Amino acid sequence: MVARSLLYEGKAKIVYTTTEPEILLAHFKDDATAFNAQKRGSIVGKGEINCTISTVLFQYLEKQGIPTHWLESISANQMRVRRLQILPLEVVVRNIAAGSLCQQTGLPLGTVLKQPLVEFYYKNDSLGDPLLTSDRLFLLELATPEQVNQLQQMARQINRYLSEFFQRCDMTLVDFKLEFGYDAQGQLRLGDEISPDTCRLWDVAETDPNRRVMDKDRFRRDLGNVETAYQEVLRRVLAQGNEGDGN
Ligand code: ADP
Ligand code: MG
Repeated sequence: MVARSLLYEGKAKIVYTTTEPEILLAHFKDDATAFNAQKRGSIVGKGEINCTISTVLFQYLEKQGIPTHWLESISANQMRVRRLQILPLEVVVRNIAAGSLCQQTGLPLGTVLKQPLVEFYYKNDSLGDPLLTSDRLFLLELATPEQVNQLQQMARQINRYLSEFFQRCDMTLVDFKLEFGYDAQGQLRLGDEISPDTCRLWDVAETDPNRRVMDKDRFRRDLGNVETAYQEVLRRVLAQGNEGDGN
C-alpha cells in the first residue's frame, strides 16, 4: 500500500495508484473551484473535512446496501478506494430548485419539486459539463438504456438515504452530484465524493436565503464564512454518524 504514482490530479482530489492494481488512493485537497474552474481559491481544512464527510456517508450508504468505492480511511484527507472505470456522466439529483435549474427553467429558487429530478450531465470540462438529453447521451454512447435505468434507480435510492441522513442533521438536501463507475468485477459502484462541494445543503433552522447556505454556494457566491459552514456540516455529520453506530 506504499508505492504511489500520480494517476490523475483533478480540481478537488489527487488520485494515486498503489501497489495493488485495483486500489487507488484519493487525496482530498483544500483547492476550491467554481464555474468550471473560472473561479479559483482555497477553503482551509476542506480536504480533511470533505474526506471525513465522504467517509461517513459512504459507510452509511454501504450499510444500506449501496455499493461504493470506499475501502478505508488512511488519514484525515486520504482514503483508499476501489479503482473504477468512471462513466463520463455527472448524475445530478434535485429535490428543490436551485442553481442552473433555476437559471435554465425560470423556476424560483427554493421551489420544492413534486418528485426528485434526476439529470445527466456530460463530464467533460472542455465542453463545460453540458446537460444531456437522453438522445444525446445515446448518440454519444455514454451509456446504454439499461445502464441509464440502473443509474437512475441507484441515484433515487441514494437520494432517499442521504435526504433522511441530512434531515437528522437538521439540514435539507437540496441537490447533489454523483459519479458512478465499474469495478474490476463489473459491478456498478458509487465513486468520487459526497461533500459540501457536491451537495447543496440548507440549514433547516434558517429561512434567510443566504444564511441558510452551508455548502460550496458560499464560495461560489462570495457569501463569506465558507470554512465555518464546512466545519459545521462536518460537526453535524459526525454527530449523526456516531449516533448511527449505536444502532
Ligand atoms: P474533477 O476535477 O474532475 O472534479 P476530482 O479532483 O474531483 O476531479 O477527482 C479526480 C478524478 O478522480 C475525477 O476524474 C474522478 O472522476 C476520479 N475518480 C473518483 N473516484 C474514482 C475511482 N474510484 N476510480 C477512478 N477514478 C476515480
Ligand atoms: Mg470533482
